[in-house]
Amino acid sequence: PDLSVPAYVLAAGAERPDAPALVDGLTGDTITHSQLAAYVDRVAAALHARGLRKGDVVAVFCPNTPWYPVVFHGIAAAGCVMSPINSLYTSEEIAFQLRDSGAKVLITVSPFLDRAMAAVQTAPVDEVVVMDGAEGHASLLDLLSSDAPSPRVDIDPATDLVTLPYSSGTTGLPKGVMLTHRNLVANVLQMRPIMNAHEGDERIIAVLPFFHIYGLTVLMNQGLVAGTVVTLPRFDLEDFLRVIQDQRITRAFVAPPIVLALAKHPLVDQYDLSSLRTITSGAAPLDEGLALAAEQRLRKGAPEGVTVAQGYGMTELSPVSHSTPDAGMEPPGLTGPVPKGSVGVSVPNTECRLVDPATGEDVGPGQRGELWVRGPQVMKGYLNNPQATAETLDGEGWLRTGDVAVVDERGIYTVVDRVKELIKYKGYQVAPAELEAVLLGHPEIADAAVIGVKDADSGEELPKAFVVRAAGSALTPEAVMEYMAGKVAPHKKVRLVEFIEQVPKSSAGKILRKDLKAAN
Ligand code: ATP
Ligand code: MG
Repeated sequence: PDLSVPAYVLAAGAERPDAPALVDGLTGDTITHSQLAAYVDRVAAALHARGLRKGDVVAVFCPNTPWYPVVFHGIAAAGCVMSPINSLYTSEEIAFQLRDSGAKVLITVSPFLDRAMAAVQTAPVDEVVVMDGAEGHASLLDLLSSDAPSPRVDIDPATDLVTLPYSSGTTGLPKGVMLTHRNLVANVLQMRPIMNAHEGDERIIAVLPFFHIYGLTVLMNQGLVAGTVVTLPRFDLEDFLRVIQDQRITRAFVAPPIVLALAKHPLVDQYDLSSLRTITSGAAPLDEGLALAAEQRLRKGAPEGVTVAQGYGMTELSPVSHSTPDAGMEPPGLTGPVPKGSVGVSVPNTECRLVDPATGEDVGPGQRGELWVRGPQVMKGYLNNPQATAETLDGEGWLRTGDVAVVDERGIYTVVDRVKELIKYKGYQVAPAELEAVLLGHPEIADAAVIGVKDADSGEELPKAFVVRAAGSALTPEAVMEYMAGKVAPHKKVRLVEFIEQVPKSSAGKILRKDLKAAN
């Protein structure tokens, strides 16, 4: 963990200079490890020549392509801090992040230029670089052809920031999360003992956006370190399946909506996905039944089997604190199967507590409590937000995750849901994620989301289900309620049902319950 991010990643590539480091899944364009190292050096030199110095923030507003990591590691090698911006943001949201992060340079692409330029009207930066070129702007080619000397920057991995991602904004305004070089490198090292990495020959599909910490970490974890990363600019099921087939992808990092598609979508059977060994799901709760269904379906084509694994984390954790082990890997002290609905064990060097939010006391195995985490992957704090920092970090290194979890006697954790989203009904706390999982078990339900709706008469929060029916289904609200009543305890019964066309989800795959609540 004493290396900077680019030094760590590029050192792994130096062992196989001519192997592909990055491939564009749509065009096939390839960057080898030696090219990557050379490009990263040029980007760093060009930024340095522009006067950017250690700690300066460079915002990146681009889709996933092989050039994104070139820019990320180039910024990091210059000692600067990369702040990734969500591709779906409006110009106002971009302006907020530019202002909040104090970005000096914005790097974007021509299809995003209108939004970028509207944002810099109100949140000025020194320069807007347009990767693929646009009149009046420097391009990536300009940066790469810089003849400036390589910068000599003294990076202290323990204290210098490498990235400033913003949390997803699922529960409120996004917060700038300060992550150091050591945070990210430590997190990669923490993953190694539980990942069955086929050093050098992994082919990993990067379909989750790099602007989210989970997608970004693919450029570290397993990605550039263990093999080749194949990028996709956005999630499209057909592109995703075709690239897995054509590029012989071995590992995919995904979110639950993709597992849902793998389990239920008719298109999946049309592709040869036999190269896949591991699919890791994270970012939101994944139901055990869904994980098993996806696994069984994919195994048909690959008798050796593909494992659907799960990881848990958050932007503030760089991002991983828990993971189920890959097939063939057993973390020290753990034997026997790990349940698919769990998030596995804490990664090495990570301490955990489960705390009853009401009493502040630790709870024992089998009992629900808020998960607290301490380890080298815990963020430095939120930028410009001492209040949120104080609410989240306790001063002794513990981070309060805001999520409710349970641990069993073997140290295996299961995440229940966010503290804030539990539905309070007659003194009980009902987890929307649990009801959503039961709903998805119905063959005629293609997707579902649950929120609590205040009942004016009783003052109770009633569980309400939003259901997307499978094609051709004539399911009624009564039938949905009856099905649920047969599956869950009385206090968890769904009391209202509304059919919708699509569950609102973020680009990282999270259900946007706050959008559903706003409409109710
Ligand atoms: P914000 O903090 O801005 O409201 P966010 O919490 O969605 O947004 P992220 O850092 O992207 O921002 O997401 C972290 C959260 O995602 C966790 O706190 C947890 O609620 C959820 N999460 C991540 N992985 C899992 C998982 N495997 N199972 C259940 N929940 C998960
Ligand atoms: Mg959060």
